[in-house]
Amino acid sequence: MAFRQIAVLLLLTILLPLTGYSWGFFAHQRINRLAVFTLPPEMVGFYKKHIRYITENAVNPDRRRYAVAGEAPRHYIDLDVYGDSALYLMPRFWQQAVERYGEDTLMAHGIVPWHINRMKFQLTQAFKDRDLDRILRLSADMGHYIADACVPLHTTHNYNGQLTGQRGIHAFWETRLPEMLSDNYDFFVGQATYIEQPQLKAWDLVASAHLALDSVLRFERDLTREFDEDKKYSYEVRGNVTNRVYSREFSEAYHRRLNGQVERQMRLAIHTVASYWYTAWVDAGQPDLRMLASDISEEERQRLKMEEKEYEQGPHKPREEGETRLERQPLYLGKEQHGFVLERI
Ligand SMILES: [Zn+2]
Repeated sequence: MAFRQIAVLLLLTILLPLTGYSWGFFAHQRINRLAVFTLPPEMVGFYKKHIRYITENAVNPDRRRYAVAGEAPRHYIDLDVYGDSALYLMPRFWQQAVERYGEDTLMAHGIVPWHINRMKFQLTQAFKDRDLDRILRLSADMGHYIADACVPLHTTHNYNGQLTGQRGIHAFWETRLPEMLSDNYDFFVGQATYIEQPQLKAWDLVASAHLALDSVLRFERDLTREFDEDKKYSYEVRGNVTNRVYSREFSEAYHRRLNGQVERQMRLAIHTVASYWYTAWVDAGQPDLRMLASDISEEERQRLKMEEKEYEQGPHKPREEGETRLERQPLYLGKEQHGFVLERI
């Protein structure tokens, strides 16, 4: 075979997957950013002043998972491994969950609802301490985990459709659809509200995501039956890599069938992120945010730089909480669909 043909074949078989991160960088940043505008007058000035930080750092928890042990399970919970009615039966509070299942089991299947509550506690403390660095860091991070808890595929062991022949659906739902179609969403979600029971609220998020899961999987499966394979996918060139992606036609049809689901979950995320920030601030005694340091400390700046560096130079192991981490392997080396190997922590 001519070199050229081999090259073309390789290009087509070493297709990058529909990579993405939880919600995609795009959606995470948008959620954190828009949350700022729903805050009450006593808070909005402060958050607006630091909106760039809040937005840019919305994706840090995903970036950190390469460097920080124990990071990955904070982004999801595989409810279905605990049985059919897990959503209703799981202990809501960490201590009770540990007593029933043990910490190792919980860590193995994800801890997002408990981690959100932990973040809320820490953010409250940071407000009490009037610690600007921690307030910003925890606000940005917490926004990330809350948004993740709103994603249906973050609540199942079948997080990428790998158990039902629907590989790639994860990034399809949470990255490609919002990137392609969220411009028309209505993001006016109203004012942030006080959360009486932060731990239970985190479970409400997980519940709303998990109850949407059936549609996420079923509609994709139904549409796949209706679409010819060559209509379902198309190819996009980014840089010098050809990506196989869900076609625009298929994406729009799926989006229509979901009937506003992605928008609903994004709206829920925006409103809830702001509400947790607000609740932490109230619980800290409503400190005057105008009295805080005007910018992050040099130490914090260095820490962020280090984190960035670690991310850029890190191993970038193919692992991600809710994404097919697909090692690029030529098709003929394995039987994996499209030549990609699925891996997850
Ligand atoms: Zn995430």
